Formats: sequence, structure tokens, C-alpha cells
Amino acid sequence: MAGLYIHIPFCASRCIYCGFYSTTHLDVRQQYVDALCREMQLRRHYLPTTDDTSAVAQPLISTIYLGGGTPSQLTPAQLQQIFCTIVTVFFHGDDTLMRTHCEVTMECNPDDITPSFVQFLQHSPVNRVSMGVQSFSNERLKFLHRRHHAQDISPVVQQLRSIGIDNISVDLMFGFPNQTLDEWKLDIQKALALRVEHISAYSLMYEEGTPLYQLLRNNKVKEIDDELSLTMYQTLVDELKASGYEHYEISNFAKPGKRSQHNSSYWHAIPYLGIGASAHSYDIQSRQWNVSNIKEYISSIEQGEIPFEREWLDDDTRYNDLITTALRTSEGINLSMLSPKHKTYLLQQAEKQIAQNLLEIRGDSIRLTAQGLYVSDAIMADLIYA
Ligand code: SF4
Repeated sequence: MAGLYIHIPFCASRCIYCGFYSTTHLDVRQQYVDALCREMQLRRHYLPTTDDTSAVAQPLISTIYLGGGTPSQLTPAQLQQIFCTIVTVFFHGDDTLMRTHCEVTMECNPDDITPSFVQFLQHSPVNRVSMGVQSFSNERLKFLHRRHHAQDISPVVQQLRSIGIDNISVDLMFGFPNQTLDEWKLDIQKALALRVEHISAYSLMYEEGTPLYQLLRNNKVKEIDDELSLTMYQTLVDELKASGYEHYEISNFAKPGKRSQHNSSYWHAIPYLGIGASAHSYDIQSRQWNVSNIKEYISSIEQGEIPFEREWLDDDTRYNDLITTALRTSEGINLSMLSPKHKTYLLQQAEKQIAQNLLEIRGDSIRLTAQGLYVSDAIMADLIYA
């Protein structure tokens, strides 16, 4: 199994909290899409292939994820060009193979989901849509500089349902300045009313370099207090679990059978190929990342060169990666994946947290308990191999 990630770094406008790499200069979209397709050709052997020499060697891609930025800012023709290249390069031209074997997710902004875009989606391989809803308060959406309105969300979900998309994820945010617990509970209720299959929820972060961080520095906004933020998170967990969602990762909840397979591969050390400016790739021995500059990216690819940096992973780094990824999941870390040295280290370091019921051993795995989830950052810091 392996994943394919395609980065689309274009946004119609920038949200004040966002630290992702993207641009509002949409004029280079076609050149960029051409470069993406060329990069796929150049890196078609990056992922592992089957051992079966009697079969045509093929990568085991089972998830495809178009993220950004805003993939829905590309035209249907440009998206079609990307999907055609994926089929040619990774599926031997067999479109049905991709459609039947892959979870194909596309991140979309609610205001991009117009009737004509829905028509494109209906015939595309996309079978999962992830939408940045963030809040059901127009005041908060305006504060974030999001372009959609709260009243857009439900009709958009209905439109997606009408073309048979039965795997929809929404992103929510909590912990806005001055937000009360009751306001957050109302957002949770509105999200539940959409009856979507997947919900991701994050507390508002003040990332350095963003306009939101500047507002904080200039005392124009005040961070919510830690205790209220924790109560908001606990309320989220309780309400979503009571409504039948599995809490399968610290910030992610899914109806049974509807976990994000693509994101799960990041948490379970499954290889993935990232295509595009600033995209990351991982092949177990190393991770690498492309240059975070669209113009440099395009010009390198046009010359047949991949503009990347690479880090080779030693055992200690691989262990630390598991602490910060697999431990976030409900399965936790499978101890059999660790070397004797790291297994001994982990079990020694975890003794105190196990005694405090923050970590538990289940079968061959170690994982966070329900209580441990709320202090996961501190636990991970204790378990890191320095
Ligand atoms: S649309 Fe998404 S990627 Fe673009 S600025 Fe807003 S949060 Fe960032």
C-alpha cells in the first residue's frame, strides 16, 4: 500500500490563520499543472512496486489526495489533466483500476462547489470530499477571512450527496477569541446535523508569520484560556462519540469504515509520494520535500530536475516519528515495530504514565488512554528519544 499526494498551492484569498504554502497568483496554474504531470513521470519509480515478477510491476497506490491550497481553484480541464496523468503513470492507463481501488480525496472550499463544479465531480474519480467549514458563525468566518458563509454549507453537502459522494469530511475550529462553550456546542450540533462521515477539529493556532499571529502580538486579540480550550475539546470528543463517530486520531473522528485512509497512512509509516511545490514524500528510508516556491518548482521541473531536499532516517528518528504520529491514533504504537533498544526505552519511559492511567498496553501495542488524549503533547515529549 502507498499514497499519492498532489499539492495545489493556489487560493482565491488568504485566511489569516493559515501557515500553509499557497499563493493567490492564479495566472501560473496551467504551467504548474503541466509541471505536476511532468514530475509524476519523472518520479514514477519512487514508490515500492510489487515483488511479483510475473505481473507488470506496479506501485501499490491505494489512496490519492489532492490538497492545498485549494484544489477546487483549478479548472475542471486542469483537474482532468492531473487525473489522466495519474492513470497513465501509475495505473497503466486503466482508469477503472484507479476508480475501483482507490480512496480519492479532494479538498474543496465550500464556495467553489458550484453546479458546474458538481457536474465535473460527478464524472471524476473523486469519491471523498474534504471541506474547510471551520465555523457556523458568519462573524467568525469573516474574522478568519474565509470566503464562504455559514448558510452555504448544508446546500453544498446536499449537492454532493445528490451525485453520490458518500464520504464527506468537514474541518472545524474551536478556541476563537471570546468564544463561549455554548457557542462551540452549537457548532458541534450544526456539524452533526450535516450527517457527514468524517469530522476533523482543531483548536485555533497562532502560527508565527501569519496575520493572526500579528494580531495576537499587537494585543488586538486574546488567546482563549487553556482550561476552556480543554473543556471544548472534551465536549467535542463526548458529543461525537455519543453520535456514533469513532475517535480514531487525536483530531479526527469517523463513522465506522469511513476513516481517512490517506491520512492514516501518514500515522502508520506507510510510504507516500508527494507531488508539487512544498510536497513531502516518504519511502521508509528517507523523507524529502520539494522547494516551497512555485516559480522555482516549475522552472526546475521544466529542466527535468526535481527541486528537493532529503533527510535520511536513522533508527532513532524513525522511533521519534512513531511517537509523534502512531501514538496519535487509537491503535497506538505496535511494539513489534520497534528495535529492542527502542522498545526497552519506551517501556521504561512510559512506566509513570501507565501508572497514572495516561498510557495503556493492549496486546502488542501501547496507546493513549481517554485521559492521556488531553495531555498528549506532554506525554509525547517524555517518550521522545533524545
Ligand atoms: S483556503 Fe486553505 S490553504 Fe488557502 S489560505 Fe485558507 S486555509 Fe490556507
